[in-house]
Amino acid sequence: MARKEILDRIDKYVDPFRITNGKGFQLKDFDPGDTRGLRMEKGEAADLLQRGTEWLAEEQDMRYAQDRWSLLLVFQAMDAAGKDGTIKHVMSGVNPQGCQVLSFKQPSLEDLDHDFLWRYVKCLPERGRIGIFNRSYYEEVLVVRVHQHILKRQKLPPPLVSKRIWDERLFDIAHFEDYLTRQGTIILKFFLHVSRKEQKKRFMERLDRPDKHWKFSASDVHERKFWGDYMHALEEAIRATASQHAPWFVVPADNKWFARLLVAAAIVEAVERLDLAYPTVDAEKKKELQTLRAALSQEK
Ligand code: ATP
Ligand code: MG
Repeated sequence: MARKEILDRIDKYVDPFRITNGKGFQLKDFDPGDTRGLRMEKGEAADLLQRGTEWLAEEQDMRYAQDRWSLLLVFQAMDAAGKDGTIKHVMSGVNPQGCQVLSFKQPSLEDLDHDFLWRYVKCLPERGRIGIFNRSYYEEVLVVRVHQHILKRQKLPPPLVSKRIWDERLFDIAHFEDYLTRQGTIILKFFLHVSRKEQKKRFMERLDRPDKHWKFSASDVHERKFWGDYMHALEEAIRATASQHAPWFVVPADNKWFARLLVAAAIVEAVERLDLAYPTVDAEKKKELQTLRAALSQEK
């Protein structure tokens, strides 16, 4: 099958979950258990994912060689939605040299002494590289919005803190993404959409299995009480920041195999659209390489 045909088929699966215009976006229109009617054995899903990651690895090698475009992948989710596993599986074939995963947790005192985008800007990927943000600047309009005492720690001058602060932040984020795009960064944002019910199931599993205890934190259970607030903040974020050049993907995450395939497909699709090729060299450079080759072959 030709590449174009494969891409068109992939797009059929990706398209329903891609938000390029946030107007009227509602999370309730998306089912966390959706698999587009696909049913797959574990092995079959793994095979397909491997093909996707090989494709991605090849594309990444070309982007690295070209040294022009960078790729920023943003992952947001409630706990236990599968961020870590998705990142691990989807990026498994990619040359680590051109790829960096950044996990953003509670800000440091130094972070709090700066504007809210500061710590994220420092970690943006170089040209030709992939930067994966495991949580991101979106936390500044999610956890910080849900728990407003966190905002107090950010030391903003009081006259600048008004009811409009969340709209202002979202506006700033949207413009920040416009700017990055114009600088050659491809931005894809993934919300791994797990249901509250599935989250409970995964927490219970973690509690029942000693080898998973390390993944468990009491605060994760506490945050469930704020589920509605988080979903509201997220809806507002998607409404304000989904765009053609920095789309959101609402990834159904109750089935891990589907979430992983969808994320891999969305990335492959986006980078394929760049239509990359390895950089070519001009005639002069070619001649130089031939001379070098001839000289090298004479050496013992
Ligand atoms: P995992 O639980 O899989 O290890 P995680 O991303 O949940 O991964 P944790 O250390 O459990 O990592 O949690 C990080 C915490 O930091 C989250 O509760 C998140 O909301 C919080 N956090 C992230 N960014 C900010 C921020 N800018 N301000 C305040 N809290 C933040
Ligand atoms: Mg956690």
